[in-house]
Amino acid sequence: RAKGLGGARHQVFDPAMRDRVTTRLQLETDLRWAIVRQEFFMQYQPIVALESGRICGFESLVRWQHPRRGLVSPDRFIPIAEETGAILPLGRWILDTSIAQLHAWQQQFSQDAPLTLNVNLSGKQLFEADLILELDRILARYPIAPGTLKLEITETVLMENATSVETLLEQFRARQIQVCIDDFGTGYSSLSYLRRFPIDTLKIDRSFVASMGIDRENSEIVRAIVMLAHNLKIDVTAEGVESEEQLVQLWAVQCEYAQGYFFSKPLDADRATELIGSRPQW
Ligand code: C2E
Ligand code: MG
Ligand code: MG
Ligand code: MG
Repeated sequence: RAKGLGGARHQVFDPAMRDRVTTRLQLETDLRWAIVRQEFFMQYQPIVALESGRICGFESLVRWQHPRRGLVSPDRFIPIAEETGAILPLGRWILDTSIAQLHAWQQQFSQDAPLTLNVNLSGKQLFEADLILELDRILARYPIAPGTLKLEITETVLMENATSVETLLEQFRARQIQVCIDDFGTGYSSLSYLRRFPIDTLKIDRSFVASMGIDRENSEIVRAIVMLAHNLKIDVTAEGVESEEQLVQLWAVQCEYAQGYFFSKPLDADRATELIGSRPQW
């Protein structure tokens, strides 16, 4: 009998599993303090307009510099923050920091077309009662050119809450805040929401972009997405562009914008500012 129990214990207290559980619990606790301890910072990845070859804006991406674990990936901690509710204060901090940065850039660099900024919104954050109030407060403090703030939402979030999302997207539109569908193609299977909701941009998921050129079928999918979007008067951004060959194909199908390591990795604010100042052209 003791032997039997020992066997069972071995399964339940599998050391790798125990490590995962403790790490996760530790991250949950640490997340609660991380804002106060100022362990988060934003990076900014350029988005390039393919017609001009110039930077038209950035996507802001949150980073967590953990005191012992080093950099923790947002893919790891955002889901935990969503479950524990820590995403609400964190999301506010992200909006505040990102919009302040956009405001500063627009003051510093007067271009024909003012720079834009994409900010990722998590599902929880989207349905926080105070989101619009919060946005109005931040935008009053850091005025930006109309149409230059773009909020990124995934299809799954949109479809899980389709009725309440409609009102919210109209409130965005009334404030000239644009809406992007992030990771397009990986989530929901019906496309009817593209007509139903006011959507400005589709961001084609990097899994499709990555295999363009290697795999003819994926190139066809990208082409089809761009054509569909254009018929609905929606712009397209290709995510995760890493090679010139991908760029050539995206150019050929008249995709508007591209983002990826081919142009630049996400940069700290001061490096991003330097890059804007150097006016690169691809
Ligand atoms: P996402 O919004 O789809 O962001 C794009 C991710 O792709 C970023 O990863 C970016 O660094 C990475 N990436 C960009 N270009 C390339 C490329 O050419 N090749 C490859 N392999 N990767 C590329 P990151 O920063 O690790 O963020 C991962 C995800 O975490 C984001 O996916 C987003 O879902 C979430 N996230 C990041 N920052 C925020 C934030 O501020 N708020 C919220 N709610 N979620 C965020
Ligand atoms: Mg995004
Ligand atoms: Mg994405
Ligand atoms: Mg993603």
